[in-house]
Amino acid sequence: MIKVTVWNEFLHERKGEVVKKVYPEGIHAQIKSFLDTEEDITVRTATLDEPECGLTEEVLNDTDVLIWWAHMAHEKVPDEIARRVADRVLMGMGMIFLHSAHYSKPMKILLGTTCSLAWRDGSRERLWCTAPTHPIAQGLPLYIDIEREEMYGEFFDVPKPDDVVFTGWYNTGEVFRSVITYVRGHGKIVYIQPGHETNPIYYNPYIQKIIKNAVRFAAPCENLRDTLECSNEPAPLEK
Ligand code: ZN
Repeated sequence: MIKVTVWNEFLHERKGEVVKKVYPEGIHAQIKSFLDTEEDITVRTATLDEPECGLTEEVLNDTDVLIWWAHMAHEKVPDEIARRVADRVLMGMGMIFLHSAHYSKPMKILLGTTCSLAWRDGSRERLWCTAPTHPIAQGLPLYIDIEREEMYGEFFDVPKPDDVVFTGWYNTGEVFRSVITYVRGHGKIVYIQPGHETNPIYYNPYIQKIIKNAVRFAAPCENLRDTLECSNEPAPLEK
């Protein structure tokens, strides 16, 4: 079983009528609902308002892959919690940053750059698969059309990714490295660009498939799980 925690700041959905209509129970609840249909994945959620942002040592120690959606309250996540998340990634926890989480504290800590990008509202996007052999691309078509999405464009100030699994093109002319992967320490990191809160992106079966594939890709292998359980002790070479 892959244990997933979906973290959401959960503010837009409570403050904005438009967003509330798209995600009445919150973005985290919608992501949980489509991951819950997978037999090998078990999901819990956590939000900003919970004690320690819902990301206690106990929760993180019991998480194989953490999914992070945030936009308006990056600064409200205490530095200590952001560091705790980043440290868990270095020890092997998989991490998936969604959409505006590019500016989250854990992403900036892990990648070490500003993670800034060009931005404009309202474009049609075509996501081109640029790494068809990658595990995240399996079962997906050569391209995916999204009728309306916020434009995130280059230059995206991130380190050179290990893989650019999908490249976004917009009808307004821009391009973007939309689904990219990294390894930091023992942990795998995936950034996935589509997911603006006023668009029903997380109802799109192709985006759901990308996230499901990303969960399985980012999950720690069995050896690293042993390492996680015994903190910083290296895993034994033989058993
Ligand atoms: Zn957005």
